[in-house]
Amino acid sequence: MERLQKVIAHAGVASRRKAEEFITEGKVRVNGKIVKELGTKVSQNDKIEVNGIPVEREMPVYFLLYKPRGVISAVKDDKGRKVVTDFFPEIKQRIYPVGRLDYDTSGLLLLTNDGEFANSLMHPKYEIHKTYVAKLKGIPARESLKKLERGIQLDDGKTAPAKVKLQSLDKKKQTCIVELTIHEGRNRQVRRMFEAIGHPVIKLKREQYALLNLHGLQPGDARELSPHEVKQLR
Ligand code: URA
Repeated sequence: MERLQKVIAHAGVASRRKAEEFITEGKVRVNGKIVKELGTKVSQNDKIEVNGIPVEREMPVYFLLYKPRGVISAVKDDKGRKVVTDFFPEIKQRIYPVGRLDYDTSGLLLLTNDGEFANSLMHPKYEIHKTYVAKLKGIPARESLKKLERGIQLDDGKTAPAKVKLQSLDKKKQTCIVELTIHEGRNRQVRRMFEAIGHPVIKLKREQYALLNLHGLQPGDARELSPHEVKQLR
């Protein structure tokens, strides 16, 4: 749900301030009824009219990007670095990432212009499971991995229980590959969790987000979500 004046402004009908004026002056209808309340929230399905003219809303779009390393999870960057929306030069809608992956993290990232959808996915209440594959420095003891499974104390509190799987190890190089599934989304959480057991992350990739994975995609590839996938994520 978004505020009525924001939706009107986003559709390019008027500035936010002017949209507020239209509302208080009784010039805005939602589903045929005049609405004068500025705080009114509307959803994608509500029909909005300003001065009797329907407001054309952006069609909601949903994409999955295999974000390469070295890309910012933002729509623009002051320092001119590559951002995730650069992978969608032909999309007219104002899409933005659902959450973020670190500059050095690769993997699955969703982008949309549907604020309601994005907010619900990011809300801790929905406990969206995300699976990361990390290359670690050193080889953690079983007990250290158990700590991650139980939940580990970080600066910003204890983490929820996680699923951990040691995929492979390289004794010579003293590195290993570990799969970690969490449903929280704190800043740099995976890196901090592994640091907390004394095994810093060398490389990090997000392989799965809820029911979605990267099968068939290369770094930099993107595809639209199917209506069925969008429905399952809602
Ligand atoms: N956790 C991290 O540490 N980094 C990411 O990019 C995502 C999750």
